[in-house]
Amino acid sequence: MVKNIVVIGSGVMGRGIAYVSAVGGFQTVLVDIDEKQLEKAEVEINEMFEKGVARQKLTNDQMESAKSGLTYSNQLVKYVQEADLVIEAVPEKMEIKKTIFEVIDQHAPEHCLFATNTSTMSPTEIGSYTKRPSQIIAMHFFNPVHKMPLVEIIRGLETSDETAEVIQSVSMKMGKETVVVNEFPGFVTSRISALVGNEAFYMLQEGVATAEDIDKAIKLGLNYPMGPFELGDLVGLDTRYNNLKYLHEKLGEKYRPAPLLEQYVKAGRLGRKTGRGVYDY
Ligand code: NAD
Repeated sequence: MVKNIVVIGSGVMGRGIAYVSAVGGFQTVLVDIDEKQLEKAEVEINEMFEKGVARQKLTNDQMESAKSGLTYSNQLVKYVQEADLVIEAVPEKMEIKKTIFEVIDQHAPEHCLFATNTSTMSPTEIGSYTKRPSQIIAMHFFNPVHKMPLVEIIRGLETSDETAEVIQSVSMKMGKETVVVNEFPGFVTSRISALVGNEAFYMLQEGVATAEDIDKAIKLGLNYPMGPFELGDLVGLDTRYNNLKYLHEKLGEKYRPAPLLEQYVKAGRLGRKTGRGVYDY
């Protein structure tokens, strides 16, 4: 049974995952190598708690109990030793994920399950960096995690039925609906969303319309809740770019990242998290 969850990476996604985990009743530790990120995460998570209570999604008691079950730390090894489930949410770069999974595999108890919040990558490959491939799965949350109702669960080749069942039940306790999909680069959601986001950058680069008008057209004409640039700025343009690079390598030409997107990333305009992306914040 899963009681203790360690979330690795306190960025855009990790902080949301830690919040839904704590609210779901799990003892949760949010770990990062960057102290500043942990401090920002704590501020943002406390705001989520306050808003949750103000909107009557949480009682005061629920908030207090979730808050007291949530720890912020830079000591991965210490907390992994007591974990039943580790959820990794570090940048979308295989070399970073590989190192993390090798480390946690050494220190986590044998029964511990590992999940990756990767947007595109292979849980089978990630599993191959550990001695427990049957206990590894992708648990793909959506941004903002506390609002988006889905967890897309991706089974690797070696993932056991038991692992998939436990992860479905954990996701439900976190208040989420689930779909279970078979492994393929980009799964269902990232495969579509990367293409739409990339096409919008190609259109901006070609001068088809302004960013504002592309977003407006997609929202009002196609009934999307957010425009592709609004969403890209929320996701993080570096994350979007890394996803596209991976899909381009695995699935071919149609996923080649738009040169303009690459320029934004090189300029450090990563979206909301840096105060400037396609739009200013
Ligand atoms: P982010 O850049 O906002 O945060 C990543 C965090 O990981 C940072 O705080 C960084 O300090 C930390 N980190 C880096 N190396 C670390 C290490 N060795 N140990 C501990 N912490 C470390 O990234 P993000 O947007 O939260 O994305 C994380 C993952 O979630 C990626 O795989 C991404 O593809 C996926 N994802 C992102 C979104 C989104 O909308 N941003 C949605 C779904 C899935």
